[in-house]
Amino acid sequence: MARQKKFLLTDEQIPRKWYNILAEMPNKPLPPLNPATKEPLTWQELAHIFPTECAKQELNTTDAWIDIPEEVYERYKYYRSTPLVRAHALEKALQTPAHIYFKNESTNPLGSHKINSALPQCYYCKQEGTTNVTTETGAGQWGAALSYAAKSFGLEAAVYQVKISMRQKPYRSSIMRTFGAAVTGSPSMSTRAGKDILTVNPTHSGSLGTAISEAVELAQTTPNCKYVLGSVLNHVALHQTIIGLEAEKQMEMAGEYPDMIIACFGGGSNFGGIAFPFMRHNLSGERHTEFIAAEPDSCPKLTRGKFRYDFGDEAGYTPLLPMFTLGHQFKPANIHAGGLRYHGAGMIVSQLLKDGMMRGMDIPQIESFEAGMLFARTEGIIPAPESCHAIAATIREAQRCKEQNEEKVILFNLSGHGLIDMGAYDMYINGDLQDFSISDEEINRNIAELDGQK
Ligand SMILES: *Cc1c(COP(=O)(O)O)cnc(C)c1O
Repeated sequence: MARQKKFLLTDEQIPRKWYNILAEMPNKPLPPLNPATKEPLTWQELAHIFPTECAKQELNTTDAWIDIPEEVYERYKYYRSTPLVRAHALEKALQTPAHIYFKNESTNPLGSHKINSALPQCYYCKQEGTTNVTTETGAGQWGAALSYAAKSFGLEAAVYQVKISMRQKPYRSSIMRTFGAAVTGSPSMSTRAGKDILTVNPTHSGSLGTAISEAVELAQTTPNCKYVLGSVLNHVALHQTIIGLEAEKQMEMAGEYPDMIIACFGGGSNFGGIAFPFMRHNLSGERHTEFIAAEPDSCPKLTRGKFRYDFGDEAGYTPLLPMFTLGHQFKPANIHAGGLRYHGAGMIVSQLLKDGMMRGMDIPQIESFEAGMLFARTEGIIPAPESCHAIAATIREAQRCKEQNEEKVILFNLSGHGLIDMGAYDMYINGDLQDFSISDEEINRNIAELDGQK
């Protein structure tokens, strides 16, 4: 009998609302603070740098469902729904009794889930009369998505790209420029923050933290310019819930419900996107799904970070956010999963982790590529180095199912494809990749520095 492999929704079945888990969490995250006054921030203050609608969404703890604007829905239909796929070939290779499904967010031409939030953020900017947007990007997926979204809503985009990623993945800068964005390597001499960082360390290879500082500074010094962010913040995870809401309907078509949901973790947006719509059934007590966020072992904020108020960027320009963090001056190793090189976890996820609603899992770089290679050779899709972490975690769990002879249903998010990351695959194949471990002393030193600053 032919087995069905792929599940898609019709345009009419694409969800018309995002799910706001903030409204249903029993323990709300602590509020973001104004670093100068240490008082909780209002949406009016957040709206100085962020689009107003996003600032309101950021602090919305009352509405569980938020309408997707018609113009955003129209653009979602260009590439959504995305396929939910049963990974029969991977299951076979692993000889596991587990049923493995993945939600394939790599099928849009920008190649990752980031477009799901780039579109609404640029739409709200346009609605509010903003003409310019500025942002940071690591590996370049967010920058690429944002550049396209800005162009399609008639905005000018300026993107700071982490210098090391710019060197590792030069074609992503080309993609951004193709969509009309101005791209600068960070740290750069074009901002006060960049100059300060380079003065201390002239060979600084950049991080998401440095690029965010530069982009925020540009937004504050450019008229009619807003800063937009591709991860970490609540409103970004909100927009990404389109992933899980679709997957919920598609799992129903497949006649199953996930026992376990896995996603890779940078700041938490693709994890939140696939997890939160399912987690609502855990919150209401109907289901007991397990949630696993897979992070690089060289940047282990979920498993080894500390819960603190910390800045979202290296220079300390952003609000203070309550998060699991390695300290905002933590300099992550130059792993190829650029999108996971971030020191902190989003506020919602940090609270959920504290409350035992989910767990983190650390994956070494080489194990992540081994997993990516097996996935490519079985399912025919070359995954992004970030997504390889979710695949590695899935394989660990599927192997456990084999040992214990358990037929669990595992759903993971394939956050992007790796076709612009082939340099990293070449290095893996040639045996030139290495693992980076990080000592407790290094983590403690960064946290002590953070505690000393307050
Ligand atoms: C940015 C990115 C990530 C990490 O960001 P999250 O906000 O944690 O999802 C993961 N995968 C891909 C492909 C990315 O582009």
